[in-house]
Amino acid sequence: MTKIRDKLLIIGAKIKKITKVHHRECDEILLLAVSKRHSVAAIQTAYESGQTAFGENYVQELIEKAQALSNLAIDWHFIGPLQSNKTKQIAAVVSWVHTIDRFKIAQRLNDQRPEQMPPLNVCIQVNISGEASKSGVLPEQLPALAKQISQLPRLRLRGLMAIPAPENDFEKQRAIFAKVFALKESLDQCGYPLDTLSMGMSGDMEAAIAEGATIVRIGTAIFGVRES
Ligand SMILES: *Cc1c(COP(=O)(O)O)cnc(C)c1O
Repeated sequence: MTKIRDKLLIIGAKIKKITKVHHRECDEILLLAVSKRHSVAAIQTAYESGQTAFGENYVQELIEKAQALSNLAIDWHFIGPLQSNKTKQIAAVVSWVHTIDRFKIAQRLNDQRPEQMPPLNVCIQVNISGEASKSGVLPEQLPALAKQISQLPRLRLRGLMAIPAPENDFEKQRAIFAKVFALKESLDQCGYPLDTLSMGMSGDMEAAIAEGATIVRIGTAIFGVRES
């Protein structure tokens, strides 16, 4: 279990170095520890090492872990596909949902967000690799969805999230993330100021940070390989 602490230190140092190389500020980047299919004990170890933001992909798994760890001040982020019959559970537990891809889901989260909780932070997931990915909205659908979401009082539209198709070449990774950054800029110009780009995983974190990521979602490099 000490391994998780070491890996967090290594990732932290790596982020620091990358931000220096690419002229970013280290404190602009949130490290989201993606703990899907890893144990409650592993999350607890990461938390004791100073990690407070955790991402999960599956509703049931997130709810169970959040219950088991309810004594810890964890910021839960939901980063998986969300069906409308699960929005209520999510709205009551998480600080962020990264994967909004239609208005109906946003509206339900808005209506179901408990009154005593702060507004829910959300990102629109954008389908940046076209055919290669089924999740997310197409770039041309972004302005209309951003407009609808920004009218929901219990949600705060923070930015965009993307999961590009796997790509090993650094420059090609960068080119895709640059497209996401450009989409954020064009929404800014439409009057939807966004401060978040959720992009970059264990294999493409540097390219994402180089192109403006503010949340990197890291699983394997912290917790090791997942059993499937
Ligand atoms: C699993 C997952 C991650 C983490 O991926 P790693 O390659 O393990 O770092 C990040 N984002 C999403 C949406 C995921 O499903």
